[in-house]
Amino acid sequence: MILFKRVIDLQEYLRSKKDQGDQIGFVPTMGALHQGHLSLMKISKTHCDITVCSIFVNPTQFNDPGDLAKYPRTIGADIDLLTSVEVDVLFLPPVEEVYPEGLDTSIDVDFGELANVMEGAFRPGHFDGMAQVVWRLLSIVEPDKLFMGQKDFQQVAIVQEMLKQFEAPIELIRCPIVREEDGLAMSSRNVRLSPENRGAAVALSRTLEQANEKMSGASPKEICAWAMEALALPNFKPEYFEIVDGVTLQAIDAFEDADLVVACTAVWVGDVRLIDNRILKEN
Ligand code: AMP
Repeated sequence: MILFKRVIDLQEYLRSKKDQGDQIGFVPTMGALHQGHLSLMKISKTHCDITVCSIFVNPTQFNDPGDLAKYPRTIGADIDLLTSVEVDVLFLPPVEEVYPEGLDTSIDVDFGELANVMEGAFRPGHFDGMAQVVWRLLSIVEPDKLFMGQKDFQQVAIVQEMLKQFEAPIELIRCPIVREEDGLAMSSRNVRLSPENRGAAVALSRTLEQANEKMSGASPKEICAWAMEALALPNFKPEYFEIVDGVTLQAIDAFEDADLVVACTAVWVGDVRLIDNRILKEN
């Protein structure tokens, strides 16, 4: 694996690969890597000749400075993991390489209602910062394919909309959620759960599973109301549980109203905010 910290060096290397006709796959991350991240690298390697992973904890997508400060950083272990799955390139830029003109360089794209619901409602500014850094990284790497996790379902929908609005010739591939044995979606934040809360956190995936089972006998609204109560456990603070059209991300009244239906939830478990989702219907 080759490690680049500077944009100019990365671009020179990638240009030589593109000139040979190599397909470039890109997996942006914030590090603290786990098997969920590695699954994206593995999928990229089956689709592309060169897989580029970036590790960059983007300051502009954290609306809470405490959350940014607490975000786990494990670069030594990350490098070992990336080497173990034979990632070709790690891009590890300092902030000034990504934002040479300062942090205040937002992009001009209107996500409309996509960005106002769920994560957008509870983390103001988050998607502006996310879109800004993803667009900047895409402009640097210029990949053929971009690999992102279904774990962040709304993020994938927003990036897809951004690629469409900018007419970017990049294929976005949504990769399945990798889970711990008990069903908890893998997340860099899980290490911050106390042992007791880690055990209880299985309630998120269980509730999504039970929501799936209730589909035949209840409306989306009834299931969401049930789920919010089921998640009101000791130490838990559920923020939302929504059943939405997977394209527009708007809540649906009936399961027949959309071809892609997804249940999405965000819950504080102690002082750790967890998100999870499950596709309930995909035609
Ligand atoms: P992050 O470093 O948390 O920004 O995540 C980087 C990428 O990994 C994003 O596209 C995430 O959706 C994806 N990812 C995170 N957790 C998982 C998981 N458990 N399974 C699959 N992909 C994941």
